[in-house]
Amino acid sequence: MMYKSTRGSNIEVTASQAILKGLSEDQGLFVPTDIPKLPLSIEEMSKMDYKEIAYTVMKEYLTDFTKEELRSCIEKAYDEKFDTKEIAPLFHADNAYYLELFHGKTIAFKDMALSILPYLLTVSAKKNKVTNEIVILTATSGDTGKAALAGFAGVEGTKIIVFYPKDGVSPIQERQMVTQKGDNTHVIAVHGNFDHCQTGVKEIFSNKELGRELEKAGYQFSSANSINIGRLIPQIVYYVYAYCCLYKNGHIKKDEKINIVVPTGNFGNILAAYYGKKMGLPIHKLLCASNENKVLYDFFQTGFYNKNREFKLTSSPSMDILISSNLERLIYLLTGEDPEKTMDYMEALKEKGEYKITDEMKRNLEDFYAGYSKEEETFEAISSLYKKTGYVIDTHTGVGTHVYNEYIKETKDKKTTIISSTASPYKFTRYVMEAIDKKYEGLDAFVLADELWKLSGVPIPRAIEEIRTAPILHNTVCQVKDMERAVKEYLGVK
Ligand SMILES: *Cc1c(COP(=O)(O)O)cnc(C)c1O
Repeated sequence: MMYKSTRGSNIEVTASQAILKGLSEDQGLFVPTDIPKLPLSIEEMSKMDYKEIAYTVMKEYLTDFTKEELRSCIEKAYDEKFDTKEIAPLFHADNAYYLELFHGKTIAFKDMALSILPYLLTVSAKKNKVTNEIVILTATSGDTGKAALAGFAGVEGTKIIVFYPKDGVSPIQERQMVTQKGDNTHVIAVHGNFDHCQTGVKEIFSNKELGRELEKAGYQFSSANSINIGRLIPQIVYYVYAYCCLYKNGHIKKDEKINIVVPTGNFGNILAAYYGKKMGLPIHKLLCASNENKVLYDFFQTGFYNKNREFKLTSSPSMDILISSNLERLIYLLTGEDPEKTMDYMEALKEKGEYKITDEMKRNLEDFYAGYSKEEETFEAISSLYKKTGYVIDTHTGVGTHVYNEYIKETKDKKTTIISSTASPYKFTRYVMEAIDKKYEGLDAFVLADELWKLSGVPIPRAIEEIRTAPILHNTVCQVKDMERAVKEYLGVK
């Protein structure tokens, strides 16, 4: 199995090289030359645990990893860091199965991939005779930063530097980051917004001279963002696992088709489910759920992608995105794997902020159904699910639930459905508790956590307990223009 770029240049790289590079030199994303089929039947896989299914799926993609290497990555990733042996349990509530992807260290679904990426990356470095220490640079609007810090903390041969907008993340998210332990972790607050952080990081990456200085000092940069195939591939696993669980427990028959609902931002999670379908998982529709930043909804309706619009801050901040980077991989497939056409669309997006796909391409979008949820609708979905069943979901999952309810009304489709539950309600207590009852308005984040425990019967996760009392270990703040200097200082490079 080799990987090629969505934007051409005919170069093929191995899986480990694609993981190391993150992005292709022509700025395209790496895609497998062929999407493999599931190597075993659902019956066979339904006898396996999460780690065994992870191995079965991932070995088809990471063909230059030895059996021992891949197994060791999986063992180290999916261990007691997760608060349940199942890793990604299903919870049945109302008319759907919630696939809880928030049992990792930072209680959001980013842990599913960022728990294993550091190990995939260090093995990839060894394989390609990289002796430099790998320095991960990440800009975050909240969830990715902490998940990446937790994933890379203490991993030999790596350092991680995270930039976040000083006043642009939630109090819990900030606390999670500034209390991060580990000698190889560094967190920097930036006087600016997320875009400033992201642009600053991109500039540091593309600074060739800095690259040479780093090389001399024995370092090289890499990235942990969601376009890395080392994040995409581990995400396919939990959809296969969930399908097998439904089958094993008699909720679906052999080959029965199901729907999957995914609260979507950068299009990474839902793309993984789409890859699962291409591998042979019996999936009817993939429901792409957006919040009020509904670029994707509009795109699926009209075939016209347009990011020129007002950016809205919502209660589901991890989906507040106007450029869904991973959509490029779907566009590439829709063009019939034509890198030149893909490049044209992406150039248009960069220059004009918009592009329109052909009618023929649009016809091939029938695997998807798209919807969106307004703020009040999300709160209503959280509150009515709680009142009906006692089950509490977070705001991102609330977006998915609303869109699913609309889909049922519209189509009367009764197929068994999985809703990707992307964060613990404990991460967004303020919105969740207020949605359930106005009496919680204005209470402190930790008081709300105690109340949520009483209400849901689900104990407060370690991730929240830990930061209640943890000492603050990072207090570096810098101006946007000083980001590069801050990196050099931390690494001791002049
Ligand atoms: C990142 C994130 C999403 C969006 O996932 P994408 O792969 O970017 O589409 C949804 N919910 C939560 C809680 C997230 O952290």
